[in-house]
Amino acid sequence: MPTMKVLIIGEINQTGINLLKTRANITVEITGAHDEHDLVKLVHDVDGILVRSALITSSIIEAAPSLKVVSRHGVGFNSVDVQALSLRGIPLTIAVGGNAVSVAEHTLYLILALAKQGKRYDTAARHGDFNFRNTPISHEIGTSRLLVIGFGRIGTQVARRASAFGMAIHVYDPYVPDNVINDHGAQIVQNLNDALPQMDIVSVHCPLNEETKHLIGSRELGLMKPNALLINTARGGIVDENALHDALRHGQIAGAGIDVFVIEPTNPSLNLLKLDNVVVSPHCAGVTVESSARTAEIAAQNVLNGLDSKLDESFVVNPEVLQQ
Ligand code: NAD
Repeated sequence: MPTMKVLIIGEINQTGINLLKTRANITVEITGAHDEHDLVKLVHDVDGILVRSALITSSIIEAAPSLKVVSRHGVGFNSVDVQALSLRGIPLTIAVGGNAVSVAEHTLYLILALAKQGKRYDTAARHGDFNFRNTPISHEIGTSRLLVIGFGRIGTQVARRASAFGMAIHVYDPYVPDNVINDHGAQIVQNLNDALPQMDIVSVHCPLNEETKHLIGSRELGLMKPNALLINTARGGIVDENALHDALRHGQIAGAGIDVFVIEPTNPSLNLLKLDNVVVSPHCAGVTVESSARTAEIAAQNVLNGLDSKLDESFVVNPEVLQQ
């Protein structure tokens, strides 16, 4: 059995490292280096790369003559030069399904934090201000209409959980067949603008691309109910941040739960962060103890499957290379 080397770039859960080490013929090297210059020097003898967030550029790919697979720890792959990999016939894999449950649960958390007024009641209780409860400010969500925009891995998990709360689920995803949406007991939304005025909660779960940039802008926010909530755990830029700030400040919508921003880390002076009717988190929706272990294991298995030439297409970003 030929000896092979896998380079892990960035920190991953031990579960993934252990899985790679079950193979006697594989040596594992772990690096914290992220700089292109440093990585070029490290890849000359690697057969597989498992990468967290470092950029994998064409120079790094060129410097790795034995490279057979690149495995992303996560589902996004903007950080990897896919074209350079495809030219060499090298598959790029993603850790599909690793964090969908975590992101879905975080979405429900943001909905509940806003509807239940978590921050304000927490402050009141810490100050012994129990009279604060005399004028109700929180809401039930069980009778809400939820619009899920993007019905993929995460959107479907959000729908399942929201249904359990009793919410009526509406789905806008032009790329998912009607029967898939119907099978989840959800209503199909054909026209986003027609649906927005009816919704109590709108949650975004599509990718960021040319088509979805500012999918939710001032016009769409203007169509929403004044008591509506907007949640974005997908990508910054799908929601127009300036328009959202204006809509929240002028009471066009009631609140927003935001995990993702156009610029990350956020600048503390970002106007959205100054509003009380916003709950934010630092792009951590997909990062839980459980998802970290699961994602590391899936990413490591993808490396092994890549080295064994046994990759399942559904994990591969450039499946055309598998036919070569
Ligand atoms: P997915 O590919 O499984 O699903 C995305 C869905 O969006 C697909 O069904 C697709 O048809 C749909 N879609 C595409 N264009 C659309 C449009 N114009 N309008 C409506 N729907 C459209 O992706 P996923 O794994 O469910 O991820 C969803 C989003 O969550 C992505 O933006 C991803 O980057 C993000 N994400 C965030 C975190 C986090 O920590 N916050 C973690 C993982 C993923």
